Amino acid sequence: MTDEYLFISDCHLDSNKPEIGTNLVNFLRQRALAAHNLYILGDLFEVWLGDDDPAPAHTEVIETLFDLSKTTRLFFLAGNRDFLLRNDLAQRAGIEIITEPVLLNLGNQKVVLMHGDLLCTDDHDYQTFRKKVRSSKWQAVFLQKSLLERQKIATDLRTESSAATALKKVEITDVNPDTVLSCFDRHSADVLIHGHTHRPGIHHYDRARTRYVLGDWNPEPSYLSWNSAAGFVLHDPRV
Ligand code: MN
Repeated sequence: MTDEYLFISDCHLDSNKPEIGTNLVNFLRQRALAAHNLYILGDLFEVWLGDDDPAPAHTEVIETLFDLSKTTRLFFLAGNRDFLLRNDLAQRAGIEIITEPVLLNLGNQKVVLMHGDLLCTDDHDYQTFRKKVRSSKWQAVFLQKSLLERQKIATDLRTESSAATALKKVEITDVNPDTVLSCFDRHSADVLIHGHTHRPGIHHYDRARTRYVLGDWNPEPSYLSWNSAAGFVLHDPRV
């Protein structure tokens, strides 16, 4: 066992794209075994509508996570597609649910973990929508509906959402630079790690501050590693 930390996000597990699940299972059984901690920074699932969904297409991933949890601590921070993940699934998968912003100290660096959607403040429509669906009242009402009803609402919402995104400028769906800087300042952070934008990369700022953006897993795996010897390394075929 090393002191290694791994970070992933945006797998978007989808029964229509089984190769992503296969890649993730392989990652969990091989690469992640060497790590002390694995952080999943949201959008593990393309959509998660409640823990009463038996989600048979994802059973292998869930069982593999549980197996891994016996030797590696697993953490999950909600994304915009799986914020309805609760304790039932967390127990099945052996993951601990954490709430953003998560602060870590790695070596002598202060690290902030987020999904990333909160940094996209130019997208006013999305932020308004997020505020609504993240309220406990909206979630309580939504989770009382039948699974079938929830599936229908989610399909309608996603059709609207992809139509809206297609009409927006590319920059408007990326992070806002001022929001990023104020996030660093607010937490006195040296490192910010997030996903969501599907724009994997490493961005440097003044005072040696760095932002690591995790990529999505379609089709290749993307992850960030940290250990005391090597520091941070982003493993993404596109970077
Ligand atoms: Mn996202």
